Amino acid sequence: MKLASVTHKGIRRLAVVLDGGERFGLLDPSHTDLIALIETGTMVDADADVVQTVARRDIELLAPIPQPRRNIMCVGKNYSEHAKEFARSGYEAGAVAGKDIDDHPALFSKLPSSVIAPDAAIELHPSITQKVDYEAELAVIIGKGGRGISKEDAYAHIWGYTIVNDVTARDLQKNHKQWFLGKSLDTFAPMGPYVVTADEIDPENTTVQCHVNGELRQNANTRDLIFDIPSLIATLSAGITLQPGDIIATGTPAGVGIGLDPPVFLKSGDTIAVTISGIGTLENRCA
Ligand code: MG
Repeated sequence: MKLASVTHKGIRRLAVVLDGGERFGLLDPSHTDLIALIETGTMVDADADVVQTVARRDIELLAPIPQPRRNIMCVGKNYSEHAKEFARSGYEAGAVAGKDIDDHPALFSKLPSSVIAPDAAIELHPSITQKVDYEAELAVIIGKGGRGISKEDAYAHIWGYTIVNDVTARDLQKNHKQWFLGKSLDTFAPMGPYVVTADEIDPENTTVQCHVNGELRQNANTRDLIFDIPSLIATLSAGITLQPGDIIATGTPAGVGIGLDPPVFLKSGDTIAVTISGIGTLENRCA
C-alpha cells in the first residue's frame, strides 16, 4: 500500500494513494500522523478506513514524515561508482588514493528540520555555499524498534520505504571535518512523495534514478549497494535503539554534480526529480 501525508482544506490527513497518484483516499481523521500509525502497528484497510476520495488537485502533499522525531540516519559512499567519483572529485576531506571503498559504512545524519515536502523549494543558501548538489536515495522507515537487531531479523523491523534527496553543500561538506553542516541546511532533505509498505517492493532490486532539468544524471539499482540494508540496520542498531519511524537513507549512486567533468552545481530554477521504482517520483525545484 502507498500512503501519503497531505493537507486537505488546510487540515493534515493521511491518505491512501489511488490510481497512481491521481486520486487520494483520505483516512479517518483519527489517523493523521504516520509515526503514530507505525508505532501502534495500525494496519490500514483501504476499504474500511478511507472516508473520502479526493482528486490530486484537492490536496497538497507533505513529506510522509514531515517532522521526524530524530535525525535522519544516512550512509555515505554506499555505491562503488559513487565512492570513486567522490574520491576523484576532491570534495572528500581526507580521501586516501586507492581506498575509495570503506571497510565500514560512513554514517552521518541530517537534522529533522531539513525535511521539505514534494514540490517545495530547495534553498541554495548562496551566502554560505556555492556548491549545492543532489543525491537520490532509497530511504528505509523503521517499524518495530530495537537494539542489537541481527541482519537476519532486519527486514522484520522495516515498516516501509520512501525517497530522500540528500541535498548537500559540497564546500561545507569538505571544509568541516564532519558532514553534518553540509547535509543539514534548511530544505536539504526533500522527502516523499509517498511511503510504500515493505510488502510492496523488493528493496534489493529497485531502480534509483535522478533527472536534473529532465536530463538523466543518476541511474542505478539497489542491488549494487556496498553495505546492504540488513548490514546497515545491524550496524546502526548495535548500540543505538532504533525507534518506530526512524529513517535511514541508504546512500546515493554515481552521477552527482561533483562526479561530472567539470562539476555542475545546482542553480536557481533547476528541477530535481528522483524516481525509485515502486515508490514514485520526488520532484523539487531550487529557489
Ligand atoms: Mg547521501
